[in-house]
Amino acid sequence: MSSELEVLKQRIFELEAKNAELEAEKAELLKRIMEENTRRDVRVEELEQKNKELETRLAITLDQYPNLYREFSSENFDYYGITDEKLCPLCKLEHGDEESIEGTYKAGSYFIKCEQREIEMVA
Ligand SMILES: [Zn+2]
Repeated sequence: MSSELEVLKQRIFELEAKNAELEAEKAELLKRIMEENTRRDVRVEELEQKNKELETRLAITLDQYPNLYREFSSENFDYYGITDEKLCPLCKLEHGDEESIEGTYKAGSYFIKCEQREIEMVA
């Protein structure tokens, strides 16, 4: 009888140890998840900020060059078309329809360029 009790005590001891181990693992996982969430929140905030800047630059560009319109945007470039006039509003020259005007954000500024000329857009 007392040996059965010893076995049960031993079993309880093992289970308590296992439980403590699992609790520690759980705490570690929770900590990692929270860190990951924090990193993601920061990243989202950065991207929202960047997006806001890009939208601002785009608005300024379209405001200063009313005969440009945005054709499409990729991750790093905006592509503009010229609405009615044949002359490029950047270089005042005529270039072909297939020649696109690109906008890109670099070194903290927004630049638009055609084949002839690059202009920094200033807010
Ligand atoms: Zn041009």
